[in-house]
Amino acid sequence: FAIEQESPMITDAAELERLDQKSQFHPFTSIADLAKEGPTVMTSGQGVRVRDAHGRDYLDGMAGLWCVNLGYGRTEITEAITRQSERLSFFHTFNGMTSDVVAECADALLKRAPVPMSRVFFGASGSDANETQLKLIWYYNNLRGKPEKKKIIARWNSYHGSGVATASLTGLPGMHNYFDLPKGPILHVSAPYYYRDAPEGMSERDFSRKLARELEEVIEREGADTIAAFFAEAVMGAGGLIPPPEGYFDEISAILKKHDILLVADEVVSGFGRLGTYWGSQTYGYEPDLITSAKGVTSGYFPMSVCFISPKVWDVIEGAAAQTGIFGHGYTYSAHPVGAAAALAALKLIDELEVVKNVADVGPHLMNGLRDRLGQHPHVGDIRGQGLMVGIELAKDRATKEGFPPANRTGREVLKAAAKRGLITRALGDTLVFAPPLVINRAEVDELVDKFALAVGDVLG
Ligand code: PMP
Repeated sequence: FAIEQESPMITDAAELERLDQKSQFHPFTSIADLAKEGPTVMTSGQGVRVRDAHGRDYLDGMAGLWCVNLGYGRTEITEAITRQSERLSFFHTFNGMTSDVVAECADALLKRAPVPMSRVFFGASGSDANETQLKLIWYYNNLRGKPEKKKIIARWNSYHGSGVATASLTGLPGMHNYFDLPKGPILHVSAPYYYRDAPEGMSERDFSRKLARELEEVIEREGADTIAAFFAEAVMGAGGLIPPPEGYFDEISAILKKHDILLVADEVVSGFGRLGTYWGSQTYGYEPDLITSAKGVTSGYFPMSVCFISPKVWDVIEGAAAQTGIFGHGYTYSAHPVGAAAALAALKLIDELEVVKNVADVGPHLMNGLRDRLGQHPHVGDIRGQGLMVGIELAKDRATKEGFPPANRTGREVLKAAAKRGLITRALGDTLVFAPPLVINRAEVDELVDKFALAVGDVLG
């Protein structure tokens, strides 16, 4: 693809790799692998594709980190960012200050909420947004005279962030090990992992009921008066691409309502169209009390997160304002005007390009394509997902679902084979994941499926 741009200062691929390798401490990276294989240096992107320092092009099947929903090189957003940086590069929102674009952006976001919401609170990442939610939940229960109601329930395999509290909330032991995180008042219940955890022959409905019973048992064991909130992604992302089985959110929501427990929808990945509805909660028909969003709100062009706060929570906080005085929470980059300008441009594009409609069309096309090409492959155990969020779980033995030995790192081998063929995927253990830009078209989906099927063949025959 053709990109007009100024040359960066250093263009030599080997030199860039060397500089990065000796200077950067990479997040979520194996230090040993990096030492052996070196980094992949990306230099440009356009549409659904990115190019590395060697000039190799890749179809980005992961939209960066599930965030570049509108694709790369969108001048509507870059120009909005440039204009805003020149006009007012920064202003804050402490002490009642704000900026014009922020006021407009907050209103535009509230208008797009799936259920009536009272306020939005801005941050710069999904992690800081979930930290905000945790503090809001505790604040809210203190203000309404329930100081004992503080425990938080999340699920194993969930991903809610990398902060001290949000990594504890996250249900991935690999993120807890060695860090001495304070566990705090956090409890984990089972993931809705139908493929791996449902007893043989059990229907999805019955599996959902089983998980709901487990949740209710935990609530009764701990005492509902001690439990404040339940966090859930619509489709679990980083923890293995796990969509909820049929009826799951109906069952869970009813229990939470009965016990006066807030439902926090972590829509960091699922928000803004990824599942083929504007919000993940709309795909599955549940009503959150708090929503966390990030990523797609600016399509990854600027770091921004948004917490949506329902009237139920807001009214308590507002009602106690005379007593509490200043709300003692916030970040320098809460409601950054450049982020607000990027978000306004992205929200407009989501509407104008009918992105949600596109996902509802190409999502099933992707799923059908993968099932046609790989559904009968002896080492493909499960193909699952919703909209443009799809996972392919490999298995040594498809009939027994026995996995490959983890030491083989089979998922990673497939990822490397895909990269050689010009396709970016992500390996969550032996589940390969796709979450491409939401503007991907049918021909590009076909190319993704073809390259992936060939890569699976390269490694597994
Ligand atoms: N929640 C979910 C569901 C996520 O997938 C992520 C990141 N992938 C986060 C929260 C944290 O977001 P961030 O990396 O921006 O802190």
